[in-house]
Amino acid sequence: MDAERELGKIADAVSACKKCELHHSRSKGVPGEGPSGAEIMFIGEGPGFHENRQGRPFVGAAGDFLVELLAGIGLKREQVFITNVVKCRPPGNRDPQPDELQACAPFLERQLQIINPKVIVTLGRFSMAKFIPNAKISDIHGQPVRIKGMMVMPFYHPAAALHRPSLRSVVEEDFAKLPALIKDVGDIPVYQPEKPLEDDNHAEQLSMF
Ligand code: URA
Ligand code: SF4
Repeated sequence: MDAERELGKIADAVSACKKCELHHSRSKGVPGEGPSGAEIMFIGEGPGFHENRQGRPFVGAAGDFLVELLAGIGLKREQVFITNVVKCRPPGNRDPQPDELQACAPFLERQLQIINPKVIVTLGRFSMAKFIPNAKISDIHGQPVRIKGMMVMPFYHPAAALHRPSLRSVVEEDFAKLPALIKDVGDIPVYQPEKPLEDDNHAEQLSMF
């Protein structure tokens, strides 16, 4: 099956998913969007108020800032894939809980397999922790790491810079490192899930696609 159709199937599965509590507060699932051949995949935390209403990621204030940051390095949002670690809105924008992150993980894993991006950019600590557990974002932001064949670049969440203006220039400097990283990354890495998918309940969920 072609990649666009596979991504469409994930989007349909998200809209119907009841694997965690967050489905109760969902108006629209937010699977993510962007071309299946995107070189960069941005992974945020979870949908907020506007995202939940529109079914699209990063369309509120943080999204406006993300678009501005992308423009600063010559990219349009349509050129990159943008998604989140949880696909439904946590009520009141609370933190996603460990069981919710775990329940939603197979969707992101599948998106990574399909898109196989050159660079994964994590936005904020929940997204970073998926790839680089136990790290502190203040220590490692803007420093790319190769993990299991994937190039992961951890960034602060754009919303953090909106709340703390002193972070703004830090975020801009981190973004400025991306174009060179994409050039240097070499061969496209092959994504290897942490656990074999058939080992746990992910297999059941992936069989939906
Ligand atoms: N913040 C996120 O982490 N994700 C969105 O989609 C919007 C805001
Ligand atoms: Fe399903 Fe993820 Fe939504 Fe939870 S957040 S209901 S696991 S799609």
